[in-house]
Amino acid sequence: MLALAAVAIAQRPPAHKLLVISIDGLDARFFSDPALRVKAPNIRRLMRDGASATVVGVAPSETWPAHASMMTGVSPWQNGITAPDLPASPGDRFFAAATLRTPALWDLATRAGMKVATVNWPSTLGADVAFDFPAYWQTLQGNAVPFDAMAQKSTPPGIADRVEKAFPSFEKQVWDDSSSANAATFLLANERPDLVLVHMSEVEEEQRETTARSIYARDTLETDDDLIGQMLAKMAPGTIVVLVSDHGFENDNRVVRPRVLLREAGIKGRVEVADGLIGTADPAVAAHLKGLIGQGRKSGLAREVPMSEVRAKAPALGRWIAAFDTLPDYVASDEERGPAVGPGTHLGVSGFWPNRPGYRSVFVIAGDGVRAVKLGEIDMLQIAPTLAEALGIKLPVAKSSSLWHSVSR
Ligand SMILES: [Zn+2]
Repeated sequence: MLALAAVAIAQRPPAHKLLVISIDGLDARFFSDPALRVKAPNIRRLMRDGASATVVGVAPSETWPAHASMMTGVSPWQNGITAPDLPASPGDRFFAAATLRTPALWDLATRAGMKVATVNWPSTLGADVAFDFPAYWQTLQGNAVPFDAMAQKSTPPGIADRVEKAFPSFEKQVWDDSSSANAATFLLANERPDLVLVHMSEVEEEQRETTARSIYARDTLETDDDLIGQMLAKMAPGTIVVLVSDHGFENDNRVVRPRVLLREAGIKGRVEVADGLIGTADPAVAAHLKGLIGQGRKSGLAREVPMSEVRAKAPALGRWIAAFDTLPDYVASDEERGPAVGPGTHLGVSGFWPNRPGYRSVFVIAGDGVRAVKLGEIDMLQIAPTLAEALGIKLPVAKSSSLWHSVSR
């Protein structure tokens, strides 16, 4: 009797199967601004039937650090994925799962005996998972990732050919959102994984080329919604669906150059730009910048950010005595040359200080046992412990509270 009970526990399936979809750069305003008229029936149904929230991100609020934080439940400075930019070269350490200094959800799920699949999710190369299509490239083609680089690194060997047999349009020049969706749909239909992580990157690329929440980015989002519908149709019954995003998006309409601002005022002290903020350890600089808040286009400075808030998200900036954030669509720059406040590229950008007003990503969870509830605003570090609890595993390093009790019936 005791032996039987032990066997039953060892073979216990996950509490719930999970399909986690990340739409890169999905700013919450895609859905909250009615003027944008985004037609995304699948996502809107998940939002209506399940729990949803806007999300305050991590610093730096960029693709690779944020994806690592959503999987580890700790900040970039703790998990080690601190890259403000995309990995640049084939040997770049941020591609590899071994770069993560703290355990990821996929490690713990695999260790608990679950079948895990990762598709274009950042920093999974070499991860201990059943199926992996790692985000990987040798060189980008413009902004696009060559298909072959991803397919060659996918595991187990032969998995890309199996997807190609099921989806004859799978193999092409570049890896795009339909590639990710095809791979995930194939695995959902044929391998019944317990945890699927799929990252769709085109909404971000489109915003970088055509401005935040542009008509083109909205078209791409609507196409992604169709692809999500195809994945949902192949899920095992009872699977919980989670939609996440890594950061919001704004436009680089005006550039604020604090070094020029200070030089023009005849102030000598040192000023820095980091994680979207302007900061200083110099009392004279701090006093001058404080006086520039609220001057609109003249200074581009919107508010002083409490140092407690800065230290909580970016301890390395704790050497500052004051920090300042810019107005919406104003980007802080370290440059010494150029106007103190001048025109920018007008294109979509991320990497802003995560707490700034309006700059939020999304979290949606829906399916078996999840109730319809609006959670308001959550912290990105709450996502990993919530997913762990839904799977029925523990993520000991993550200290933020799980939302599972707030969303489950
Ligand atoms: Zn991103």
